Amino acid sequence: MEWDEAQRFPKELLPKLAGLGLLGIQFLEQYGGAGMSAVDYCICIEELARVDPSVSLSVAAHNGLGAAHIGMFANEAQKQQYLVPLAQGTKLAAWGLTEPGSGSDAAAMRTTAVQDGDCWVLNGSKMFITHGTSADTLVIMAVTDKSKGAKGISAFILERGMGGLLAGKKEDKLGMRASETTEVILQNCRVPASQLIGEVGQGFIQTLQVLDAGRIGIAALSVGLAQGACEAAARYTAERKQFGRAIASFPAIQERLAEHRSQVEAARLLTYRAAWLKEQGRRMTLESAMAKLYSSEIAVRAAEDGVQMHGGYGFVKDYPAEKFLRDVKLLTIGEGTSEVQRLVIARQLLAA
Ligand SMILES: Cc1cc2nc3c(=O)[nH]c(=O)nc-3n(C[C@H](O)[C@H](O)[C@H](O)COP(=O)(O)OP(=O)(O)OC[C@H]3O[C@@H](n4cnc5c(N)ncnc54)[C@H](O)[C@@H]3O)c2cc1C
Repeated sequence: MEWDEAQRFPKELLPKLAGLGLLGIQFLEQYGGAGMSAVDYCICIEELARVDPSVSLSVAAHNGLGAAHIGMFANEAQKQQYLVPLAQGTKLAAWGLTEPGSGSDAAAMRTTAVQDGDCWVLNGSKMFITHGTSADTLVIMAVTDKSKGAKGISAFILERGMGGLLAGKKEDKLGMRASETTEVILQNCRVPASQLIGEVGQGFIQTLQVLDAGRIGIAALSVGLAQGACEAAARYTAERKQFGRAIASFPAIQERLAEHRSQVEAARLLTYRAAWLKEQGRRMTLESAMAKLYSSEIAVRAAEDGVQMHGGYGFVKDYPAEKFLRDVKLLTIGEGTSEVQRLVIARQLLAA
């Protein structure tokens, strides 16, 4: 609650998270990771989110976006140089896709990368970047050939301290306030050609695969947050007395507790199924979008009803209910809004 009030990203947690392997959950031990499975990853993200969704979001963005992009598509030399410290947790990752003018339509980005000798020169800005100021290593998508549309976008590894890589405005947020979200500005930022990930023009295709997997993390975060909200409601309604008895004894309260908890379990199974498919190396675009859509939507309802079951005490900061409600709204927006998930699901179904 203190971090939330101060909107402070608790960097002092990073060594502790690293010590538990939580900054390299799914990466192989040879790259400094903890070598856990995709389902293990979900459990880690869930358990953090049950208590503090902001910390969970930061862990998910580090593992599931920035570090994952390098883990999935970088060459061996790049992995040794950049993935190892990220997976060991001595460095923090960020991932820059979104721009002020392009969110859901990410391929409409305007940041450019122009080749100049053995460097690429990046210009533009990125919006809403988790760890945009604190990250040591950033994966940034930029247009390398405008005429090719989505196939003219490439991905680059940037390092803090590079000339022209600047931190922009820090966002003042409704929720997830202990997870840092800032603008990233690129002004004639010279990136060595050796820091291009994969081939020129593959960046957007890479991002779609990163997001397929990343959405499983947001689904797990939703499951954890929803469970935390349900547990807080169950605790409170067992303690709170009205009309001479615990309010948990009223059928209207019991129905809600049962409904939300059942939805949490359903969301968890959808999420673990998507994670299991990923673990098998199978395509899971449909399953990860369904898990993310369902889990985030039921989490919003659980958090909202959690406040309702706390009555006036749900509206004040003495109980966790109001924070869950503020934090949860990000989950139907980040890594693709609910509307975008429905588009992804429908496209997959219609293409089948
Ligand atoms: C706390 C936070 C952390 C974030 N972290 C990162 C990060 O680390 N890296 C990163 O790259 N991005 C990050 N983002 C950005 C996030 O992924 C985008 O905000 C999200 O994808 C939505 O884009 P937008 O905000 O531009 O909304 P828009 O795309 O402008 O959408 C506005 C509304 O229009 C709807 N809409 C848009 N297109 C359609 C359509 N075709 N059909 C129906 N409805 C549509 C949307 O669903 C939404 O309701 C973060 C955002 C937040 C808030």
